[in-house]
Amino acid sequence: MPARSVRSRSARRSSGLLLSSRVLGEADLILQFFTRDYGRISVVARSARNSRKRFGGALEPFHQLALEFDDRGPDVELGLLREASVQLPRVGIVKHLENLECAGRGLGWVRHGLPPRTPEPSVWRCCAVLLDALDRGAPADGLRLLAEFGFELCECLGWAPELDGCVVCRRACPEGQSAGISPVRGGVVCRQCGGAQRVLRGPTRMRLLGLPGGGQLEAEDAEPVIALVEDILRAHAGLE
Ligand SMILES: [Zn+2]
Repeated sequence: MPARSVRSRSARRSSGLLLSSRVLGEADLILQFFTRDYGRISVVARSARNSRKRFGGALEPFHQLALEFDDRGPDVELGLLREASVQLPRVGIVKHLENLECAGRGLGWVRHGLPPRTPEPSVWRCCAVLLDALDRGAPADGLRLLAEFGFELCECLGWAPELDGCVVCRRACPEGQSAGISPVRGGVVCRQCGGAQRVLRGPTRMRLLGLPGGGQLEAEDAEPVIALVEDILRAHAGLE
């Protein structure tokens, strides 16, 4: 197959999501993608600023993109984007401001949380679930979906807080009871051990404990859980 043979040996193909974009020089862009097969990568898109048709208008967030890029080895931080096209459009997200903001905030967490060049298939699945739901969804449910996504993201990255007992003295936290949380220490801290940064109400804590078994959060959980997720990302991933 001649078309294949002209490609360099480091040519990669993967589905991906655009995480960030910044200008490089007169005509180029530096793009960060979360790719399904290679994790978070950074590439240069030559002439992407000048020529809209160069990448067919595909360099937009939230759509699932088909990407082709050259990986120039572990010592070269920036790959080179060859092709980008929309594989699965999600045009519904931009119809509601709240859903748009939730999608952007979720991908911002991914950008901060993911290590470079490390495939994270479970994070990829969580992103697809969130973005598809926001794409379909009417507004008003976005924050709850974002909260569930954030907690699952923390679980995927190994940062989920321990919520059933004190992480210091191991004393169990009675069912349904509010608990102080220390994101730095990794979960519940009892009054004696101290150091809580925020308090999680009992019902919210119980629903978070039920999430891995297929449970759901309620609308009232969204705000405290999002705050908790951002505490965790600040503690572990330098979220500002
Ligand atoms: Zn304790």
